[in-house]
Amino acid sequence: MTYSPTPSDSTTFLMELDHRHLIHPHQTGAQRERCVFVRSKGCSVWDTAGREYLDVSGGGNWVAQVGHGRAELAEVAAKQMTELAYYSSFFEFSNDKAVRLAERLAGLAPEGINKVFYSGGGSEGVDSALKIARLYHYNRGATERSWIIGRNLGYHGASLGSGTVTGFPPMQQGVGPLLPHVERVSPPYPYRASELYGDADPTDFLIDELTATIERLGPGNVAAMIGEPMLGSGGVVAPPPGYWPRVRKLLSDNGILLIADEVVTGYGRTGVWFDSARRGMQADIIVTAKGITSGYAPMGAILMSDEIGETIAGEGAYFFHGHTYHGHPTAAAVALANLDIIEREGLVDRAGPIGSWFQAALDPAAELPHVGDLRVEGAAICLELVGDRDTKQPIMAGPAVLELRRRHGVLVRDYGPMMILSPPLVMEQQDIGRAADAVIEVLARVGPDGEPNAR
Ligand code: PLP
Repeated sequence: MTYSPTPSDSTTFLMELDHRHLIHPHQTGAQRERCVFVRSKGCSVWDTAGREYLDVSGGGNWVAQVGHGRAELAEVAAKQMTELAYYSSFFEFSNDKAVRLAERLAGLAPEGINKVFYSGGGSEGVDSALKIARLYHYNRGATERSWIIGRNLGYHGASLGSGTVTGFPPMQQGVGPLLPHVERVSPPYPYRASELYGDADPTDFLIDELTATIERLGPGNVAAMIGEPMLGSGGVVAPPPGYWPRVRKLLSDNGILLIADEVVTGYGRTGVWFDSARRGMQADIIVTAKGITSGYAPMGAILMSDEIGETIAGEGAYFFHGHTYHGHPTAAAVALANLDIIEREGLVDRAGPIGSWFQAALDPAAELPHVGDLRVEGAAICLELVGDRDTKQPIMAGPAVLELRRRHGVLVRDYGPMMILSPPLVMEQQDIGRAADAVIEVLARVGPDGEPNAR
């Protein structure tokens, strides 16, 4: 089939081809509509029909820290592709950009985290971290330590390993048997504290549950716990201040590693380079992706302590693990240039003000009958939708998100009942106002079933 795009036929034509050939991640078969993008700049993207959308979702997936269409990054990629597009990083082979990026990341990472292993994205990074944690213990003679503890509502990816530690049941349905030796505990979720923890203090409850879980599995059988510093896809849920320090202590007392999944929070999303440190996680391993390149190239980086790095890959060890695109020179060059932009433009420091502007602009939304909670953590924002504010019965955010796109050209994400905003860190106050007005307009029309009423 040949294709000559014209403004009138390209949308229909591409939609038809898409239906015929393309399977989308997280695809619902019933959704036949396609939104086919062809261009982007700053905080805007355009579809085949020339319609402009305001991207309040970070490219739909919490990326786009530096915004879209940066010629500077394209130039860096083009130069690197001409000089050295790719050569393997296996064995003794290396490249200047992968090395420089590793040094840069070690400089940004919390104290004591100096070793870097690359991935092609978040799921691959989480899988690598799980293997690294198990191998670390194995190489130290603790061969029984294989259990991994994850959390309900934690999102860690879609590969078999990362998908097993993810706390969303649909990720596991129909694709078992899953990764063995994975256990899950409850997450902190202040908005639903009474449902989840009864009258107990939430942190006490969660520490008791984790203690009991470790005892049941056998402390000497547990390799690691994995958690996002704050739940991302689970609904931008920050833990009480004492939670991570107490978890950290409990794990350390039992020789268990802590893996911080910073795929969403890393590189400035919440107003700091790495969110785990300020929440007291003192993680042994930090998994990052997304913001490392702002989505301009697929890449992730697993950052770990010197001790772990030495134990799995130092003198006398053999790390038989790695992917073709580990340390990809072009991706690494783009990552370096992306970090330059983040630093030069002070984008980490912009996340806080962006969050405050959204908080103020969305204030009227928090009073609407079907908005149960509004949570803001830097430039990560969630409106949790409920059928009733007293019973807190969840309702799906999907219809409202669709309406926002169709009627207002505003792109946000839905995760079950969560409407999530993760704007580029370059978003201006005027666009924040436009996005918030649209969100309020749509949510004011949402009924108890989640469907917006006709205007
Ligand atoms: N970890 C977290 C916290 C994520 O939010 C995601 C993706 O959204 C992943 C891991 C998986 O990353 P990827 O989709 O790049 O595999």
